[in-house]
Formats: sequence, C-alpha cells, structure tokens
Amino acid sequence: MNPLTTEQVRELREELERQLDRLMRSIETSEAALRPVELDQSRVGRLSRMDELQNQSLTRNLHEREEIRLTLIRNALARIEEGTFGVCEACEGYIPYERLLVFPEATGCGNCG
Ligand SMILES: [Zn+2]
Repeated sequence: MNPLTTEQVRELREELERQLDRLMRSIETSEAALRPVELDQSRVGRLSRMDELQNQSLTRNLHEREEIRLTLIRNALARIEEGTFGVCEACEGYIPYERLLVFPEATGCGNCG
C-alpha cells in the first residue's frame, strides 16, 4: 500500500474539518438539552417526568459518543500536523486511502482492527 499523496491528505483534512464543524454544533445542541430544566410540577405528571428522565439518559449517551468522536477527529487532525496521519498505530503500515475516506479518524489499517 502506497503512502497518501499530498492531495489525498488535503481532502481528508477538509473532510475531518467538516465533520468537526458538524460535531461541534451537534454537541452544543445536546449540551443545551442536558441543562437541568425547571419542572412545572403542576403540569408535569409522574409519567412525563419518567419520559423526561429517559430522554435525558438518551441524550447523555449521545453526548458521550459525540465527545469520543470529537477526540478521535481532533487526534486525526493532530496526526496530519505531525505527519503521522494514515499510518497504522499497531503495525505502522499504511492505512488504505479507501478506508480513510470512510473513516478519516481511523488509527488502524483494518487488518489490525
Ligand atoms: Zn495495521
């Protein structure tokens, strides 16, 4: 497998930056949803309170996944800066371009997992 061309790295960096942008907006939304809200006790019954708690827990899960992804994308951008982008962390072989197109944040070549 050949190393990535400058052009390919540039494309992948743009893709990572687009994803970072989208993710930041999505994180803002889920953080806003996680802010504690004043419950109107006269209006909110027990069932809707349970709905509320369930929604909060779904949003919290989503938010955790977003934070993990944010770290992966930032790490990938840092590797581009360092010049180690596209190299498998396990075997130090090259990560195929086709794989990076789908998972630009990938740190493994696909054989190493
Ligand atoms: Zn590998």
